[in-house]
Amino acid sequence: MVKARKYVVKRYFEGVPKRDDFEIIEYELPPIQNGEILVKAEWVSVDPYLRAYNNFRFPVPYDQFSYQVGLVEDSKDPRFPVGTRVVSHKGWCDYSVMNANVSNSPAEIIYKLPDMKDFSNSLGIGAVGLPGATAYFGLLEICQPKAGETVVVTGAAGAVGSLVGQIAKIKGCRVIGFAGSDDKVNWLEKDLGFDKAFNYKTVDVQKVLKKAAPKGVDCYFDNVGGEISSIIIGQMNDFGRVAVCGSISSYNDDFAKLPKATILQIPLVMKQLKIEGFLAPRWRDRWSEAFSDLYKWIKSGDLKTREHVTEGFDKLYDAFIGMLNGENIGKALVKI
Ligand code: NDP
Repeated sequence: MVKARKYVVKRYFEGVPKRDDFEIIEYELPPIQNGEILVKAEWVSVDPYLRAYNNFRFPVPYDQFSYQVGLVEDSKDPRFPVGTRVVSHKGWCDYSVMNANVSNSPAEIIYKLPDMKDFSNSLGIGAVGLPGATAYFGLLEICQPKAGETVVVTGAAGAVGSLVGQIAKIKGCRVIGFAGSDDKVNWLEKDLGFDKAFNYKTVDVQKVLKKAAPKGVDCYFDNVGGEISSIIIGQMNDFGRVAVCGSISSYNDDFAKLPKATILQIPLVMKQLKIEGFLAPRWRDRWSEAFSDLYKWIKSGDLKTREHVTEGFDKLYDAFIGMLNGENIGKALVKI
């Protein structure tokens, strides 16, 4: 018998999730059956969507899902022998039993982690995982940036945003990022090669963007929503493209009581903009294509990755709240 621990979300969050909204449950896993594998979690992800999905009111309590990288410790599935590393959506647990034969829903996804060679396996929940696929397909499929165009990204120093800006640079674009601290701005400009970055908390976004993008914005990768997005969309060029990836500025709000939006129809019509929301699993059958490019760019040094690592299963809640508060530069994750 293996002793396991998992986080259960007990109730719907009100505002910022509280420690008491979660409960750590200890239990014994049954011996594995044919077709099953026993997996020890090594890297567990904390993501904004864990907060957002709680607002959709699916039944509570539920086990806290998220992506994780784990090591197969026992196996009755020849496709996943002992020692294999797998990426799954088992979330905030230290040990779990998985069955790849029933992994036909996003919630039950299990796949082998590609060999990361000299790089950390944690990339499997970062640049070579969901955030990587999100940045890659959101930017390249929806914004379709062309060399020489101006791309703006918000949440620019986070897991997704930092990749979006660098992929846009690889594609020959001019890149402007908005993030929430001067340290993040420095990292974007000095280390990642963004052409310009701004601390949205201290600048007049309208003004600085006019100056940084005097010819207007062609593509906007929206990670945060809210007023900053309306300002950016107001400065777009004819036939500009907006990929709506997330809206973290409102995840802690009651979705029924969000403020009225700035009118966007005028720039949408007059500039003939395309604005499209997306979920990365739309391209699930093509993720390996993204991973192969992303890994190639990481190896060549064209794409830099950074992680904000918190250590310990008991620290998952703290890491989650820290990420929501903007403490992370790059991908926020927990080493178990
Ligand atoms: P990040 O690594 O970017 O971490 C979250 C960041 O959000 C924080 O570091 C903080 O940075 C910023 N933030 C927090 N509150 C606010 C606020 N009120 N206004 C503006 N920024 C805020 O997370 P991810 O890269 O994982 O996710 C980024 C976005 O992408 C999220 O909206 C997420 O939901 C979305 N997403 C969408 C997917 C899809 O398939 N559509 C898949 C994965 C992610 P700062 O200091 O800059 O404020």
